[in-house]
Amino acid sequence: MQRVVILGGGVGGTLVANLLVRKLRRQIDRHEATVTLVDEKGQHVYQPGFMYIAMGGEKAENLSRPERSLLDDRVILDVARAVKIDEANSRVDLEDGSHLEYDQLVIATGSRIVPEEIEHFDTEAHHFYSPAAALRLREALDAFTGGRVVIGIAGMPYKCPPAPLEVAFLIESELRERGLRDKSEIHYCSPIGRAFTIESVSEMATPILEEKGIELHTFFNVETIDPARKVVESLEGEEMPYDLLILVPPHRGAKVVIDSGLSPASGWLPTDHHTLQVGGRANVYALGDATDLPLSKAGSTAHFEAPIVAERITAAVQGREPEGKHASYTGKVMCFFEVGDGKGTLLQFDYNTPPTPPKPNRFWHLGKIVFNKTYWHTVPKGRV
Ligand SMILES: Cc1cc2nc3c(=O)[nH]c(=O)nc-3n(C[C@H](O)[C@H](O)[C@H](O)COP(=O)(O)OP(=O)(O)OC[C@H]3O[C@@H](n4cnc5c(N)ncnc54)[C@H](O)[C@@H]3O)c2cc1C
Repeated sequence: MQRVVILGGGVGGTLVANLLVRKLRRQIDRHEATVTLVDEKGQHVYQPGFMYIAMGGEKAENLSRPERSLLDDRVILDVARAVKIDEANSRVDLEDGSHLEYDQLVIATGSRIVPEEIEHFDTEAHHFYSPAAALRLREALDAFTGGRVVIGIAGMPYKCPPAPLEVAFLIESELRERGLRDKSEIHYCSPIGRAFTIESVSEMATPILEEKGIELHTFFNVETIDPARKVVESLEGEEMPYDLLILVPPHRGAKVVIDSGLSPASGWLPTDHHTLQVGGRANVYALGDATDLPLSKAGSTAHFEAPIVAERITAAVQGREPEGKHASYTGKVMCFFEVGDGKGTLLQFDYNTPPTPPKPNRFWHLGKIVFNKTYWHTVPKGRV
């Protein structure tokens, strides 16, 4: 019997589980293999929708569905929190005291936000990385009557790299529509020397920032927030006064991988760029936000990694070499990018090919909206 255990029922874990039971159908029917997915909540959450709670009238209840409803019947679902990966005994310890033994392990535990690592973040800064925070930001925007909006990034890496730029563009459009633009300044603080990590995307976004009068500040790595003076200070020594502060919170990998000694304190798993194996282990894989790969932490990354994990595990179970176009990961990522005023663009790239985003237009904005609406029927079920 070959036991595959997948930790995490987000984009990556759900898709790997569904692909695997299709590929291992014969072995599962003959009771030669099992595929078990462990998720602490038993709910699958569509996180890209959080931005639209803040910016587009989306509701939290539309962004979550029972994990079971997205899984093939052959996948065993265990709603439980994994607390330790015990490599010596090839087992995962669960919070309720039980454990699961594995022959192949997939770690898809995503990332977590740690705003508490920056003093006064919780009371001073807004963000949109949880439904509750996004709703609070919406309320702050509704109450905003003009002033200095400061948008920044309080730690790299973070989920969905375009998101803070998108929010800057969307807020600028909104303030203009509400007749508040003349009474407002918008400042975008980037931790690096340009607007976006990837040069070609930066070249696309910088003129849009200029055109919209959003002031770009580079090398601004958030260090402290001074609530008395309403100023955010950077590691580089710059001070940025704000009336409305929006910061991407710092991110870390899952506690279970740190506690199990599989990753450094950041929680990002050392992952092979092509095989997605963790730290040279033959039977442990990672995908999605959990990895340390030099790629966007994005659902799309997990989406394109999942077929590789599924093919490699199937090959191991069937005693053959991985084969076909999913034998090895190329670093493929594809993300929609909103630029405000009902326009968007598309970022498509891999390890060797940087993105060449098309001129922003209505098509790619609508593409993102349609993708958000159809997600439940497509990505987790392996239909695209
Ligand atoms: C505001 C926002 C906007 C975004 N926009 C986009 C976008 O436009 N495009 C895009 O591609 N991506 C976007 N993303 C990023 C995307 O949502 C994530 O990159 C993606 O969800 C990562 O998938 P994952 O499977 O690695 O992790 P997740 O989807 O986060 O799933 C991890 C799962 O693991 C479970 N888990 C964690 N620890 C344990 C444990 N110890 N035991 C059991 N279960 C555990 C969690 O409950 C969760 O279900 C956005 C994210 C945010 C927050």
